[in-house]
Order: sequence, then structure tokens, then C-alpha cells
Amino acid sequence: PGVLYVVGTPIGHLGDLSPRARSVLTNVSAIACEDTRHSGHLLNSLGAQSQRFSFHQHNTKARLPQLLQLLNEGQSLALISDAGLPGISDPGEQLVAAARAAGHQVICIPGPCAATTALVSSGLPSGRFCFEGFLASRGKERQQQLAAVASETRTTILYEAPHRLVQLLKELAQLCGDERPLQVARELTKRHEQQVGPTIAAALEHFLEHKPLGECTLVLGGAPISGPDQQSDAHWRAELAALMAS
Ligand code: SAM
Repeated sequence: PGVLYVVGTPIGHLGDLSPRARSVLTNVSAIACEDTRHSGHLLNSLGAQSQRFSFHQHNTKARLPQLLQLLNEGQSLALISDAGLPGISDPGEQLVAAARAAGHQVICIPGPCAATTALVSSGLPSGRFCFEGFLASRGKERQQQLAAVASETRTTILYEAPHRLVQLLKELAQLCGDERPLQVARELTKRHEQQVGPTIAAALEHFLEHKPLGECTLVLGGAPISGPDQQSDAHWRAELAALMAS
């Protein structure tokens, strides 16, 4: 059997590439990249010479058999995404599942992940948390997801594109109330890394004044836990939103 290495790469600062990741990327027979051009910069800087394959949401079906074939031949294959951990709001999951199902060894070389980096720097409860990644961009599905996020009692982590951030903050303010704790982590590990909070209202005010640029991860405090007889405000707002969306 072959070996599939799931390799974490930096989410900004190149110094975050681990020595082990470097060694794997320079020694495997082939590398599956979300975008070969994007990862080319990193791989060339390491002197990684192995064959590169693109592997993303639009060619998953066509590429999977080819990558599995490499593993069947006993070769070692590394999987990387544009940034962070493959499989976390990035392609990878299907290759890992297929490799496991075919009996190949899967080894993760852990590395940075925007979700956990934002969570632990937020100061919000991290003992239990929820990861929602990107919400649906519109429609009923988005309304239902927003309602569920608003009534979730654990800290929730969300990814969002900068040009959609203000809209998401407005929706969260409406469902969770202005004063719900929130930290927006912007440009983590990069030169202009910034934390904006500590509430939804404060973040909204900031980003209405300063156009959001770069990459953002939101860490939302959980809805207050209420007793069985008195459901929280967020719960009712969320129920109402779900009803209106249905
Ligand atoms: N696989 C990646 C990981 O492990 O973090 C996530 C990939 S997802 C396509 C990209 C999203 O992650 C961005 O839209 C942003 O929400 C978040 N993200 C990535 N890099 C970030 C950074 N340096 N600072 C803040 N958020 C970041």
C-alpha cells in the first residue's frame, strides 16, 4: 500500500511550515495541490521536485482514480491546499476517505489552521466549540444556518470572505443581539494581523468605518444558557428567523 500525507501549510507566515512538512514535501513521489500555481511558490522555494497534480472541487471525480493509482503502485503522495489544513473548508476529504477505504496509510502532518488559531486568540470559551466554516451564501439554507448559529450555546467559528463580512455581521447582530461577544481575526500570522471585537456591535462599527480587507475568521460567543422555563432571547430570535425562512 501507498502512503497519503495530509500536510498542513502556512495560513500566512511562511515560518509556520514545520520542518516535518518540509521534509515530507521534498521527499514524496507526488503532490496533490488545490492549485498548482498557487502552491508552486511554496514548493519551488523548498526545492520540491516531485510531480504535482491539481486536486480541487471541479476535478475531484476525474483526478481521484489517478491519485489512487499512484498509491496502489506503492508511491507516497502528499496532499496540500492553498493554505492551512486540507479538508478544513478546503478540498481533501474525499481523497482521504478514498485512500483509507482502499487500505492505504494516511498520515497527517499537522500545521496551522485559521479556525483554531482564531479560537485560541479570541479569549472566548474554547473548551467546547463548533466549526461552521462558510455559511450558504443566500436563501433559506443561509437563514436556517444563521438561526442555528444564533441559538448555539458553544463558541462558534465561521469563515467569511471580506466583501461579505459586513452583511454577515448585520445578520448576526439582528439574530444574536448587538452585545453578543465576537472577535474577528483578520490576516492571522501576517504583517497586518488584527483582532476586532469584543462584541458584534463593536466589530460592525469598526468594519463599517474600515473596509474589510484580507482574510477574516469570526469567533462568536455562545448563546447564554437559560433554564428550561425561560428560553434565551437568542433562542426566540432564532426560532422566529427559522419560521420566517420556512
Ligand atoms: N484550510 C484552511 C485552514 O485550515 O484554515 C481554510 C481555507 S478556507 C478556503 C479560507 C478561509 O479561511 C478564509 O476565507 C478565512 O475565513 C480563513 N482564513 C484563512 N487564512 C486566514 C488568515 N490568515 N487569517 C484569518 N482567516 C483566515
